Amino acid sequence: MNRWNLIVDVEKCNNCNNCVMAVNDEYVGNDFPGYAAAQPQQGHGWFTIDRHIRGDQPMVDVTYVPRTCNHCDDAPCIKAGGGVVAKRPDGIVVIDPAKAKGRKDVVDSCPYGAIFWNEAQQLPQHWIFDAHLLDDGWIEPRPVQACPTGALISVKISDAAMKAKADDEDLSVLSPELNTKPRVYYRGLGKTQTCFLGGNVSTRTSQGLAENVEGALIELELADRADRIKAESDLYGDFKIDGLAPNAGKFTLRISHPDHGTRDISGELSASQYIGTVEL
Ligand code: SF4
Ligand code: SF4
Repeated sequence: MNRWNLIVDVEKCNNCNNCVMAVNDEYVGNDFPGYAAAQPQQGHGWFTIDRHIRGDQPMVDVTYVPRTCNHCDDAPCIKAGGGVVAKRPDGIVVIDPAKAKGRKDVVDSCPYGAIFWNEAQQLPQHWIFDAHLLDDGWIEPRPVQACPTGALISVKISDAAMKAKADDEDLSVLSPELNTKPRVYYRGLGKTQTCFLGGNVSTRTSQGLAENVEGALIELELADRADRIKAESDLYGDFKIDGLAPNAGKFTLRISHPDHGTRDISGELSASQYIGTVEL
């Protein structure tokens, strides 16, 4: 049987928030009996964009990660709900808006923080994958339709086909250690899980002016790695060694250029770091 999955390509997300607005437009003030009661105007984030910022000025990068209910196959909210939360045959998890009244405990059961408490209605609520629209013949949910960059794709395929797709395309899920079997997959989460070490290389001209050094060899030694990681400074003298494990510990950086000499720098790497300008 084919079931729904959401694939999020974080490298295509530009934080335009069209998906967030589409979900709010659909649910704020609108009741869908059997599916979801109206979302309150304030305080809920059924579909949100997380922002991961790495580095220090002037070397900073930002990754936007759309987040919502993962429609887990082994969902803690279903276990906690005792019948008020159910998984549909198409994979979508729905909190019953009639049966779940007063069940604030269901909010705390979600380890992803995807369930919100509606105080006025006394209801736990989350994004229901627009199940009411899909049942009405829509081919994709509204946030997918509203995304202008293709960062969101919904697919209704067999679990075996989805697993093969995830393996082939190197898709991952949020917090895999929770073992909840999410149906929301991500492409390109690497930047949210790694850090970089960057800097700039310059020298002094005979007139005493600062000049960027292109082509300097950068060699990074980390306490927990046997190999040396190598990079080169670019036209502007900048270098960036990415994909490092956070909290990698002590490092030594050797920066050398045949015309300008060698400098050794040491430090401690706990998160992405810009070491500033190193003069050769
Ligand atoms: S993300 Fe949370 S609310 Fe959604 S199915 Fe999983 S446990 Fe339930
Ligand atoms: S609509 Fe698409 S690009 Fe815009 S924030 Fe949402 S996922 Fe990102």
